[in-house]
Amino acid sequence: MAINRKRVVIVGDGAAGTIMANKLRFHSTPEEIEIDVFGNSERHYFKPDGVQIPFGFKDPANSFKPTQSLFNYGINYLKANIRKFDLENSTVTCEKNRTFKYDYLIIATGDRFSTEELPGYDKAASHFYSLEASMELRQKLRDFKGGKIVIGQASIPIQCPPAPYEFTFQLDQYLKLKGIRDKTEIHYIYPLNRVFTIPNVSDFIERLMEERGIVIHKMFNVDSLDPMGKKINSLEGETLDYDLLILVPPHSGQKIITENGLADNSGYIAVDRNHLNYKDYDNVFAIGDATDLPISKAGATAHFQSEYLANRISNEVNGNAYFEAYNGDVACTTITGGNEAITLFFSYTRPPKANFESKADYFLKWTSSDTYFSAMLRGIM
Ligand SMILES: Cc1cc2nc3c(=O)[nH]c(=O)nc-3n(C[C@H](O)[C@H](O)[C@H](O)COP(=O)(O)OP(=O)(O)OC[C@H]3O[C@@H](n4cnc5c(N)ncnc54)[C@H](O)[C@@H]3O)c2cc1C
Repeated sequence: MAINRKRVVIVGDGAAGTIMANKLRFHSTPEEIEIDVFGNSERHYFKPDGVQIPFGFKDPANSFKPTQSLFNYGINYLKANIRKFDLENSTVTCEKNRTFKYDYLIIATGDRFSTEELPGYDKAASHFYSLEASMELRQKLRDFKGGKIVIGQASIPIQCPPAPYEFTFQLDQYLKLKGIRDKTEIHYIYPLNRVFTIPNVSDFIERLMEERGIVIHKMFNVDSLDPMGKKINSLEGETLDYDLLILVPPHSGQKIITENGLADNSGYIAVDRNHLNYKDYDNVFAIGDATDLPISKAGATAHFQSEYLANRISNEVNGNAYFEAYNGDVACTTITGGNEAITLFFSYTRPPKANFESKADYFLKWTSSDTYFSAMLRGIM
């Protein structure tokens, strides 16, 4: 039956924005819903490959695709960043000063690396959280002949909380393959009184780290860096020297979100944890890494949130009742070294089980960039 066509504006062309747009296109016709996505990324990089690229375990040429090519037929991709959000008048304005009206607004602007919070970061540290940084680290690891490596994260939250331990296990494997593990100390720092946020997963990971001779420093909240002296200092008063520092940079939400009054200085948007609405706006939502929800900042989170929201909006537009809710679902496969991996499934109310590693999980992870580009991002899965 014919209805009034609605316009859904999605701000952000990363994992969350792309999955959301493609899923919504599957759930509705262009006559029912116009979908406009704003963003200005030349390419879409599959960030999980960052834990393998520095070791040469993955060819980076297969880790990205042109952003434009990833939107299904019937989606308008507008290459511009949004500068102004006017929720009272239901409009957004882009950097070219053009204003667009919406019926539904979905903010999927992700987060950013706020290295300004940690003076000396750029000189002192390497990381694997972007393609460029992973390539630089690859060269440093190729040149590395042995010594002391300190690895960890500058603060919480970060994207993909398991990535630092996943990287560490592969570092151990890489150094063994290179024949210099016995000449290298690996020191793992973590800001809590364990090695991962979730206690039972932490116990499992800690055991694996101990088996591999990785030295653990718990309650190490990074306070300052000394790039010249090659030292890292914690708030708790511990100092470690290093030959190579691999530190996940501090993260924040986007500045533009704070500047528009949509979040405090953290830049993360507070949304209803089950319905993803911003404040009491029925038609404004945030998804993906942009939210302040107490769950992993992960592509899998964006995927489950998009599934819920695409269903909800298409049903609402068609006048159907929809009673489902987003319950905090996340799924995450992480490599534990030795060509094995573990998969964790959890939600707000269901903690993950961490009891075994398997080669099947490793295969799942190994093929994840193919699955991501061909099916997940496309909204098919
Ligand atoms: C090393 C690493 C390993 C990871 N491993 C996994 C894993 O195994 N499994 C998993 O599920 N997740 C993993 N992740 C996390 C996952 O990649 C992120 O959670 C996911 O990319 C978040 O998607 P997003 O769309 O919210 O943010 P992003 O992908 O960062 O996209 C945000 C987009 O918004 C755009 N944008 C920002 N501001 C504006 C604006 N004003 N106007 C328009 N556009 C704007 C940006 O340019 C960007 O394209 C990993 C991440 C890293 C770094």
